Amino acid sequence: MDFSSLAVLSGLPEQDPYNAVGVPIYATAAYGFADLEDGAQKFATNQGYTYTRIQNPTVAALEARLTALEGALGAVCLASGQAASFAALLALVRSGDEIVASPGLFGGTVGLLNQVLGLMGVRVHFVEPEAAAVESALSEKTSAVFVEVLGNPSLRLPDLEGLARLCEERQVALVVDNTFGAVGALARPLEHGAHVVVHSLTKWASGHGSILGGAVLSRETLLWQRYAQFTSPDAQGRIPWEQHGARCFLERVRQLGLSLGGMVLSPFNAYLLFQGLETLELRVERASQTALALAGWLQSQPQVAWVRYPGLAADPAHARAARYLRGVFGSILTFGIRGGLEGASRFLAHLRILQAPNVGDVRTLAVHPWTTTHARIPEPARRAAGVGPEMIRLSVGLESPQDIQQMLAEGLRAVEGVAHED
Ligand SMILES: *Cc1c(COP(=O)(O)O)cnc(C)c1O
Repeated sequence: MDFSSLAVLSGLPEQDPYNAVGVPIYATAAYGFADLEDGAQKFATNQGYTYTRIQNPTVAALEARLTALEGALGAVCLASGQAASFAALLALVRSGDEIVASPGLFGGTVGLLNQVLGLMGVRVHFVEPEAAAVESALSEKTSAVFVEVLGNPSLRLPDLEGLARLCEERQVALVVDNTFGAVGALARPLEHGAHVVVHSLTKWASGHGSILGGAVLSRETLLWQRYAQFTSPDAQGRIPWEQHGARCFLERVRQLGLSLGGMVLSPFNAYLLFQGLETLELRVERASQTALALAGWLQSQPQVAWVRYPGLAADPAHARAARYLRGVFGSILTFGIRGGLEGASRFLAHLRILQAPNVGDVRTLAVHPWTTTHARIPEPARRAAGVGPEMIRLSVGLESPQDIQQMLAEGLRAVEGVAHED
């Protein structure tokens, strides 16, 4: 089935006492057992429902739908995108390991890698997401390579297939944050060789800026045989790789992230995300068309120093975007206001577009990454992440293109005075 059909048909319950057409919300903490043997069996095998921290039917429906849309082996949903990245990496690393990551990552991910995983004795090397640079940073201790499908807000695209080949050869997991790939509506990194993808479902999957959620997905692979945590006995004396095959990674994510870590997605949020996925492709297509038109228009404005949008033919990411994105180029664009920080400040002071640190909302949102999402990152690293004081990130929504353009024009007019100064 095509993506459009899977988006509305996958994950629906096979049996429902009322033949419900949509997915029911199972607001229950625990599930009953028939008798002693039934309870014992469920606890021994982790099969079937016992407690919602571990599994819930509404969340399972969302996991099935995500699996279908990404062409994955399976999925585990968690409370947020941060929780998803955390759980995916927890399943891969052990104290003393190293991670190679690209410098253009979402600010929260940089903090997670440096601070949280740092506490666990994991070292991170930040290098450009190109095969040669990553290869020189790999060591015996590297247990994951972490990149974003489209850098936020750098909008760089990594050499996905080159990285996948390298990681396969060196037997290291390639983890791709596919948040900007909009759950497969824009990009499907597993098809290009990534072993694992993580998502903030808060963004395009929710689509309405209303709730938080995250997911970890993986594909069929023999890679886990090279990880000691999957080939040595677990607490019950079982070998995860022998017990679960390629699913052993997702089982570990569920165990560490949910069962023990407790970073659980609420069934109510799972319901909203399940529904959000149904209109995902339409939203991404419409917002991408608007973003392309706005990017072209912004380029012709005298107060704008530069524009980055992968859909522009001259954009440095265009060739890879044409290869890795599915025909449209996404709803995020960035641009530089002449006059640096002061120009950006005047622009935002006169902009009627909502200013908020979110993306993938039905509403257009503007943000100044330098002073908000990336403010805590030391300046050299911030610049390496492609963020400058003049940069505005725009997440294009579903308003009419003319209205957005008019609101941008109002902001730009306020910059005219400073525009001559540089
Ligand atoms: C928002 C975001 C995250 C974090 O997701 P939350 O749901 O806010 O925890 C991670 N990666 C990227 C690329 C994001 O945009």
